[in-house]
Amino acid sequence: MSPSATGPVAPSRVQLGMPTLPSQIPSRSSVAGGPDTTGPDPSRGLMDSFGRRATDLRISLIDKCNLRCTYCMPAEGLPWLSKDQLLSAAEIRRLVDIGVNTLGVRELRLTGGEPLVRADLVEIIAALRADHPDLPIAMTTNAIGLERKAAALAEAGLTRVNISLDSVHRETFAQLTRRDSLDKVLIGVEAAAAAGLTPLKINAVLMRGINDAHAADLLEWSVTRGFELRFIEQMPLDGDQQWNKEGTISAAETRELLSERFVLTPTPENRDGAPAERFDVYPLGTSAEEIRHGRQGPPLGRVGVIASVTEPFCADCRRTRLTAEGRVMSCLFSNEEFDLMHLLRNPATTDAQIAQAWAEAMWLKPAAHGTDRPGFDLASFHRPDRSMSAIGG
Ligand code: SAM
Ligand code: SF4
Repeated sequence: MSPSATGPVAPSRVQLGMPTLPSQIPSRSSVAGGPDTTGPDPSRGLMDSFGRRATDLRISLIDKCNLRCTYCMPAEGLPWLSKDQLLSAAEIRRLVDIGVNTLGVRELRLTGGEPLVRADLVEIIAALRADHPDLPIAMTTNAIGLERKAAALAEAGLTRVNISLDSVHRETFAQLTRRDSLDKVLIGVEAAAAAGLTPLKINAVLMRGINDAHAADLLEWSVTRGFELRFIEQMPLDGDQQWNKEGTISAAETRELLSERFVLTPTPENRDGAPAERFDVYPLGTSAEEIRHGRQGPPLGRVGVIASVTEPFCADCRRTRLTAEGRVMSCLFSNEEFDLMHLLRNPATTDAQIAQAWAEAMWLKPAAHGTDRPGFDLASFHRPDRSMSAIGG
C-alpha cells in the first residue's frame, strides 16, 4: 500500500527510522462495511484506510522555542530550521485553504515550537480569518510574550488559546522548563483572559517527583480563575530520550492525586472523539448524593485528563499535522513524513495536486501509535526520532 505515483505531484515520503507497528485498534474489519481498499480520494476528505477522517488540522509555525521543558526539548535546544525552510505565511494560507475548501478540515490549531516566536503570527492569523470567517482557530502556547500580543491576536481573529503551565510554584516551574520565567507566563495568561481568548485551557504534564505533588494546587489555581486544566500523560517525545513508562504519571494516578483535595465526577456530555476525559470538580466532602440531586450547586470547574499513553484514543483520532517545514504527519508517532513543501514551491503545482498528495499521506495513517497492542508496550515500541517541539504538539 504505497501512495500512487502521480508524477511531479507525488508527496515525497521521508522515512525516519523504524515504521510504527500497526495496532489492533482500530482494525480494518471493524470499519463499517468492511475493509476499505479504494484508496485515497480528496473528495472524501482526509480519510485513512481504517475509515477515520481527519478534520482537525494542527500546523506548527516554527520549531524554535524560548523554554526548554525537560519532557520536550534538550537543554541545548535543537538545530533550528532556517527562515527559508519554514512554511511562509502565504504557504500556510494556501494549505489551510486547501484543507478547509477541499479536504473537510473543520478546526485549526497553531502550535510549534513556540508560535509566539514567529514574528508574523498576527498577520498569519488575520489572513486566515479573512479567508475563513467561521473557522475555529486555536493556538497552543507557553504564553511568554503573550502579554504584548494577546489583544492584537484576538483582534486578528484568534478564537482561543491553550497555555502550557506545569506548576504555579516558581522553583518547580524553573526546574521543568529550565527557565525562571513563571512571572512572564502568568502575565501572559492574564492578558489572554482579558483579551477574550477563551475558554482558556491550561495544559500540564506531570513529572514524577517534580510537579506531581503540586497537581491539586494547579487545579485549584485553574478553577479559581475559570480556566479548564488538562493533564496530558507524558509521551515518549522528549528530545533527551529519557522517557520511560514507569516514570509516566498515568491518568488514573492523576485522578487519584486530585482526589486528595477534590471530588471528580465524569461530565455528562458525550466525549465525541475528544482526547480528554473530562470531570466536574467539586469540593472535597461533596457526596455523590448531593451532586445527583443538585444540592451542592454548580461545580467549581472542570478538569480534563488526556491518557495518550495508558488509554490511547487512536480509534477516534481526527488529527492531521503539518510540521513547520511543510510535511504531513498523520500520527505523532509515525516515522514517516510526507513532504508537501516541494510541491508548494513548484510553480506548476495546482491546489488539486496538493490535495491529492495530502490525502495520499493521510491514507497511510497507522492504526495506532507505537505498538501492536493498545497502550505503550516498550518491547515493541519504536519511538519517533523527532521530539514534540519539532513535530508540533
Ligand atoms: N510551545 C507551546 C507550548 O508549550 O504550549 C506549543 C508547542 S508544545 C510542543 C505543545 C504541547 O505539547 C504543550 O502543551 C506541551 O506540554 C505538550 N508536550 C510537549 N512534550 C510532550 C510530551 N513529551 N508528552 C506530552 N505532552 C508534551
Ligand atoms: Fe517549548 Fe512548548 Fe516544548 Fe516547552 S513544550 S520546550 S514551551 S515547545
